[in-house]
Amino acid sequence: MENTKCLIIGSGPAGYTAAIYASRADLNPIVYQGMEPGGQLTTTTEVDNFPGYPEGIDGPAMMEQFQKQAERFGADIRWGVATEIDTTQRPFKVKIDDGNELLAETVIIATGATAKYLGLESEEKFKGGGVSACATCDGFFYKGKDVAVVGGGDTAAEEATYLANLCNKVYLIHRRDQLRASKAMQNKVLNTPNIEVLWDTEVKEIVGEVKGFTKALNGAILVNNKTNKEFKIDIEGFFVAIGHKPNTDIFKGKLEMDETGYLITKPDSTATNVPGIFAAGDVQDKHYRQAITAAGTGAMAAIEAERFLGE
Ligand code: NDP
Repeated sequence: MENTKCLIIGSGPAGYTAAIYASRADLNPIVYQGMEPGGQLTTTTEVDNFPGYPEGIDGPAMMEQFQKQAERFGADIRWGVATEIDTTQRPFKVKIDDGNELLAETVIIATGATAKYLGLESEEKFKGGGVSACATCDGFFYKGKDVAVVGGGDTAAEEATYLANLCNKVYLIHRRDQLRASKAMQNKVLNTPNIEVLWDTEVKEIVGEVKGFTKALNGAILVNNKTNKEFKIDIEGFFVAIGHKPNTDIFKGKLEMDETGYLITKPDSTATNVPGIFAAGDVQDKHYRQAITAAGTGAMAAIEAERFLGE
């Protein structure tokens, strides 16, 4: 069995930043990259809002740079998925899908969250070229254009109002006749003149043209589920905001989480309810979900792990 002072699970901005800080603090961290090395940013194209990249950078290229920076200080970055953890005693026993087992004095969980999509074939086709799950990341590309947001919760309401500031018109497509979002957010949506809510409406298909690597989304076919009437809206951007699923299945019943599965950390800290286990990035954050905020909490987690080991 392998021993480590610091095991980092996950390789998005949170995991890699934790790895940079932990290696510089001589914790010799081992990082298991998880299902999607580089995390959610590897599914986006241009990242324009991460400080330090004045010209913007491709999500996958940025994550390669994060990885290289962590490796420069000696982080041991490995391909593999953590499948089991024993949180009842320290060091924590963690099983990896390649059969390896580790004993970790501290664990930093940075397994992220996965955006939910509708599951349409046409939605898949336009991902990264018209279809997005993050208005803050990709809204800028639709300045002055018509777009749609699907969903009726706080995320959808927030994304719609954010986009309304940038875009010409925003359709908010919701499958029921009532939003799930908080009253304040509902009021904001309903009082924004360039947001049109399409009630009782479902998405049948997303349409556009694909030529080689160029994708141009130009509309969505919708259906009113009360009247069964089909209609088309002309849009260039389609934002899915039907929720995220935090990647916390292996921690169920072992670490404190909220009703939707996000890990709960102490205020102003990344500490979970188990001393020595820290959580950073989207796995503990359903509000901001930005690369920069994930990186920030990754740094916090490594600093806290170092202090914990020093105590
Ligand atoms: P929610 O689960 O709250 O809402 C998801 C929305 O998507 C619902 O309106 C749901 O419809 C709809 N939906 C789900 N699946 C489908 C589908 N297959 N097809 C069409 N529509 C679908 O997720 P959110 O991400 O909005 O919010 C998650 C949590 O985070 C909430 O607790 C929220 O309050 C919180 N949050 C808070 C914010 C803040 O305080 N600033 C900002 C963002 C989120 P239906 O209503 O019919 O179920």
